[in-house]
Amino acid sequence: MTVDVVVIGGGIVGCACAYYLSAAGLKVQLLEKGAIGSGASKAGMCHIVTWEEPPIHVKLEMASKKLYAKLTDELPVDMEYRPTGSLALIQNESSYIAMRDLVIRLGQSGHRCEMIQGREMRQLEPLLAEHVFGGALFHDDVQVNPLLATQAFALGARRMGGLISPFQAATGIILNAQGTRIEKVRTEKEDIPTKYVVNAAGAWAGDIGKMNDLVIPIIPRKGHLAVTEPLAKGILCHQTLFSAGYLDAVSGGDELAIACNIQQTQHGNLLLGSSRQFAGFDTTVEPHVLSKMLKLCAHYFPFLKTVKILRTWAGLRPYTPDLLPIISPVPWIEGYMIAAGHEGLGITEGPITGKLITQLILGEAPAFPIEQLAFTRFMPD
Ligand SMILES: Cc1cc2nc3c(=O)[nH]c(=O)nc-3n(C[C@H](O)[C@H](O)[C@H](O)COP(=O)(O)OP(=O)(O)OC[C@H]3O[C@@H](n4cnc5c(N)ncnc54)[C@H](O)[C@@H]3O)c2cc1C
Repeated sequence: MTVDVVVIGGGIVGCACAYYLSAAGLKVQLLEKGAIGSGASKAGMCHIVTWEEPPIHVKLEMASKKLYAKLTDELPVDMEYRPTGSLALIQNESSYIAMRDLVIRLGQSGHRCEMIQGREMRQLEPLLAEHVFGGALFHDDVQVNPLLATQAFALGARRMGGLISPFQAATGIILNAQGTRIEKVRTEKEDIPTKYVVNAAGAWAGDIGKMNDLVIPIIPRKGHLAVTEPLAKGILCHQTLFSAGYLDAVSGGDELAIACNIQQTQHGNLLLGSSRQFAGFDTTVEPHVLSKMLKLCAHYFPFLKTVKILRTWAGLRPYTPDLLPIISPVPWIEGYMIAAGHEGLGITEGPITGKLITQLILGEAPAFPIEQLAFTRFMPD
């Protein structure tokens, strides 16, 4: 069957693209080599971030947050959307100053955020360790369950006529004889004639690029996570907590980087993260990484030492060298779009990415300027 758009990748980004493209009246087929959400999107935490810089990220984050608030009513699956806010845990004075500068900048553009002194921190979170220097509250952050959000987009797309094809990998992208235009996407089962392809294959976007000699500089950045037994609601007063060192872990180099991220889900389980390392496509859980991560979480909340861990896993964040996603056409191949490379912000930025790709395909002006996200930024001058 001929379609308008083939989306490759059934993570949050691909499913959001399929949803908004279908809502715009286009005939869409989404190909996913495994189950829907089986890549990074089932491995992520729940945090919809609204403050992580640079400014283009903040734009994407805020736009997505607004979309999520509407999507909870629009989509056919409850994605456990909750306006939780988040609390940063600051360890020392220099981190406090850096965070205060961020809070001032964000406050000037209308964000609801504030700094918290050390003593007040224990009033806000009674189980917090004594050594925490201070904190910052980000009132606009929310939580969603990443796997449910991904499935919600897929089901929403299907209800609007989209074809959702799990366990069907793209094996080739066929261009016209001149190599300038998309003609078909090949799978083991069929060739699918289409005008547009959206490469939304997350950490695998580079492999999809190779099918047409495109060098897409996205590599996997492994992240571990642990899930605890369900705990009483209210054991933590804030459902999303993270050490301010998280930002250093994101921008860190090749070394293993660990930060403290703690989120309590709607069902009471705590998600304990997070780690960052470059280890190819290996998703084995490494005891030494897990142990470092759990020790750091317990350093901030000592009661965690006695809490039972139910499950652990590792997933692959799609990393780009400048930590910005690629949301862009490939200018020399008509119909080729890339929507990948969101690293640790894909759950947050999935919805707006789906919207922007839809606007690009419809030939509409994007919701805001996105030149910084162009694929061509990685081309030699
Ligand atoms: C531990 C951890 C915690 C995280 N926490 C957060 C958080 O709190 N907030 C946040 O915003 N983000 C978070 N993230 C990041 C987030 O999970 C990712 O950025 C996001 O899931 C990326 O989505 P994606 O759709 O681009 O990629 P993926 O979900 O990986 O989807 C890509 C899909 O493409 C498929 N694919 C590959 N090759 C082919 C092919 N040939 N044919 C068909 N399909 C193919 C893969 O199977 C995969 O399912 C976290 C990540 C990790 C690992």
